[in-house]
Amino acid sequence: MIRSFSLALCIFFLGCSHAPETGRTQLIMLSSSQEIALGHEAFAEVLKKEKIVSSGEEYEMVQEVGEKVALAASRLYPNAVRGYKWRFALIKDKDMVNAWALPGGKCAVYTGLLPIAKNKDGLAIVMAHEVAHVIARHGAERASHSMVGAAVVAGMAMADMNKRDRSVVLGAYGLGVALPFSRTQETEADQLGLYIAADAGFDPRQAIPLWKRMGTENKGAPPEFMSTHPSSKTRIQQLRRWMPKAMLYYDTAIAHEDALQTNNKPKN
Ligand SMILES: [Zn+2]
Repeated sequence: MIRSFSLALCIFFLGCSHAPETGRTQLIMLSSSQEIALGHEAFAEVLKKEKIVSSGEEYEMVQEVGEKVALAASRLYPNAVRGYKWRFALIKDKDMVNAWALPGGKCAVYTGLLPIAKNKDGLAIVMAHEVAHVIARHGAERASHSMVGAAVVAGMAMADMNKRDRSVVLGAYGLGVALPFSRTQETEADQLGLYIAADAGFDPRQAIPLWKRMGTENKGAPPEFMSTHPSSKTRIQQLRRWMPKAMLYYDTAIAHEDALQTNNKPKN
């Protein structure tokens, strides 16, 4: 009893952190470097297995949107993405309406998502939502809950992740045996994602029609876009609440782009 209590106390002090933006207290037992190593490993495996598109209009669009989203994420949440080496894979699978991001900045979009994303703004909203899950360390958080449960019972050391914990983390990020994020995490990813997309120069108002399209056209999709998302009505109310702040980011980004264009115009 005393042993489990001191272990629990130790876990509490070791694993207590806060989500960016919302300040929500999180219990996270994995280090960032463990998470990043896992992300790299999983990404390399995916690249070997899937059909990767590496040229063409759709590929260029994913690179452009991805790079802008990554830059905005680094501006808004620099501590959360330190050491990231961003990559944006486009996977050829027209039936898969999905995208994911892994710790370390490894992201993927499936070609099946593009018709529903419809345009760069829509794609940016989805990619920024995925990046937000990583920034807020939602996969590690989910895994930590099950790891802590197991550790308290068994009194085991948690320095090494076993196979089960690894698959839980990856599943939580939408890979392998998918483990849906909680509703709280989805709401958090919507909020952070909205700010990131807006700061990247994409219209945050497009998030409302985008998530409506995802809700109605995305039947039978993977859990990431289905099960625990807030109901459409709640989601739209929340997006409207965050919109004024998102519009400040967007207006600043657009003003900055305009100024750049004016400066780059040849002078007569
Ligand atoms: Zn999500």
